[in-house]
Amino acid sequence: GTDAWMTRWAAADAARCLRRPTAADDKYSRGVVGLRTGSDAYPGAAVLGVQAAWRTGVGMVRYLGPAGATALVLARRPETVTADGRVQAWVIGSGTDAAARTAGEAAVLAGILAGDMPVVADAGALDLVIGAAAPLVVTPHAGEHARLRALLGLGPAADRAASARSTAAALGAAVLLKGAETVIATPAGWSAVVDAGPPWLATAGTGDVLAGVLGALVAGRWAQRPGTVEDLGPVAATAAWLHGRAAVLAAAQAGHGQAGGAQIGGPITALDVADA
Ligand code: AMP
Ligand code: MG
Repeated sequence: GTDAWMTRWAAADAARCLRRPTAADDKYSRGVVGLRTGSDAYPGAAVLGVQAAWRTGVGMVRYLGPAGATALVLARRPETVTADGRVQAWVIGSGTDAAARTAGEAAVLAGILAGDMPVVADAGALDLVIGAAAPLVVTPHAGEHARLRALLGLGPAADRAASARSTAAALGAAVLLKGAETVIATPAGWSAVVDAGPPWLATAGTGDVLAGVLGALVAGRWAQRPGTVEDLGPVAATAAWLHGRAAVLAAAQAGHGQAGGAQIGGPITALDVADA
């Protein structure tokens, strides 16, 4: 369960965290997000995260990953920049397996986590995050969260909200704990709950999309005015809200024409969500 007093993130809360481009903007003022995601085993995760970042609205998406994943990314999104360079936020770990990581790649990720720019750490990167200097938001599902808590030496908590809060405090990072209700907590004790969206989201790849959405929002926020780990809480809640909202829209689209148009919510895939 979640505490009654916790903020339930709604459209108006999300709207406060979103910014429309103005005539004064250029691609750099809108933010540059860099993704080091995907692997030879899971190249599609790279495509899903990159596509979601572009669709969230950011000035530039850089993608740095294996050759096979890079080719897939460019085939779908030729505007993606595949050269290394400045970013205002990183997304790392989606579609990677810690056990399959090379020493060279681990060193690159450790460098990113030791840097100044905010980092969204997902999936295979979650075992590297303890001690990170960068403003950090981790995006575990229940299983990944249990593993992270074990690495931190944390025991069971009363409920998911308390669990996310104690992980955030111990790690010094914002925590976005995924599920049908997604809980976000920061080290200082701010927390919120977000309706994650329809259960169609319980499908492979949707977490990779969420990480891309979040990376884009963090880059946009930091391009305007760099923040602290506490600022990552509302941004993460907004990402979870947008992801859930996109899933509602994608499900409605997938339901068009079925059962006389009455059925809203046919099966959807992660790519439908990234596109919505
Ligand atoms: P991942 O496990 O990394 O692929 O992430 C799964 C995504 O789907 C997260 O955004 C979850 O919040 C969401 N999700 C998983 N199960 C459900 C569910 N039953 N209802 C709504 N959202 C879900
Ligand atoms: Mg995942």
